[in-house]
Amino acid sequence: MQTYGHLPVSFERGEGVWLWDDAGKPYLDALAGVAVCGLGHAHAQVTAALCEQASTLIHTSNLYHIPMQEQLAERLTHKAGMERVFFANSGAEANEAAIKLARLYGQGRGVKSPAIVVMEGSFHGRTLATLSATGSRKVQAGFEPLVQGFTRVPYNDLDAIVKVAANSNDVVAVLVEPVLGEGGVVIPDEAYLPGLRQLCDQQGWLLMLDEIQTGMCRTGEWFAWQHRQARPDVMTVAKALGNGFPIGACMAQGEAANVLQKGTHGSTYGGNPLASHVALAVIGVLEAQGLAQRARTLGHQILEGLTVGLSGKDYVQEIRGQGLMIGIELQQPCVELMAEALKEGLLINVTAGNVIRLLPPLILTDQEADEIVSRTIKVVEKVYG
Ligand SMILES: *Cc1c(COP(=O)(O)O)cnc(C)c1O
Repeated sequence: MQTYGHLPVSFERGEGVWLWDDAGKPYLDALAGVAVCGLGHAHAQVTAALCEQASTLIHTSNLYHIPMQEQLAERLTHKAGMERVFFANSGAEANEAAIKLARLYGQGRGVKSPAIVVMEGSFHGRTLATLSATGSRKVQAGFEPLVQGFTRVPYNDLDAIVKVAANSNDVVAVLVEPVLGEGGVVIPDEAYLPGLRQLCDQQGWLLMLDEIQTGMCRTGEWFAWQHRQARPDVMTVAKALGNGFPIGACMAQGEAANVLQKGTHGSTYGGNPLASHVALAVIGVLEAQGLAQRARTLGHQILEGLTVGLSGKDYVQEIRGQGLMIGIELQQPCVELMAEALKEGLLINVTAGNVIRLLPPLILTDQEADEIVSRTIKVVEKVYG
């Protein structure tokens, strides 16, 4: 079905930060499959885990113990400061689990019609519940009736949520991205996440962070909440967890960790031996190579390069980033830049209409990071200079 408009290219193979099209032309991949291939393409350890597990045991069922899944659960929750995890196959499914968890939590406290506070400009997925939670009319239009039980407020606005708290008895949770991804790489004030944490504590609400794009070292910490020590009750991850192999996870700690009980949720594939082994390999590499710290360093380097290179350009509104999640906001819509960049052998994304989004793999060399900067500037100047 024609759900995507495709750029005029197809890739044949990849290695690290590079992709080659069917004519043999190399491209510098500053998007990484939208924050998925954090370790780049064809990473040897990921490939080895995949091949080894595929030739041993791909799938059994969650009706049985899956030692590989148990190992992954242990490693992942430890990194994330969480206690328990439910494995799914995508980000949207991880968020579905979080939404169900919040409702069950609310029902358990006698709230007949539990509501979740969600944000304008957010993105949580394309299933019915997650598109209803998403703060974008474009994602929702035509799919009414939407799933009920979401109360929307502006992003990065604590006062708006305090008002909701004063006026509603039905709220049981807040679902929020630590940095808006699809919404345009919007980084909230330093006090925002700690403020949400405090409010949730006061109200007995669950703080649920969607770290599907920000997680797995992307922003310069394993998880973005660690920049502010605002530990959530529930956290979802996906994307970079499998480096391209589909896997998602909904984690929880404290009271939230014991809400979903036997029979309340499930998934045929979720956390099967193959997905679990791949994710374990990904965590191993991120850890062994200190890629959280590396993302921070590279992020500074790229941000500085862009800021210097694009200084004084009146078509640039703002350049911002956290680790290797970087946005260049332009004064005008700039979707055409993706096709222009292709010609220069550069893969970038434009989101929210006028924000160039860079989400390169974390395994970049310093030289490759500089090359992303120079090619990006070249494309922008070519079109608007
Ligand atoms: C990509 C994304 C999702 C959806 O993930 P899928 O795997 O496409 O279902 C949800 N939330 C955020 C923040 C994302 O970036």
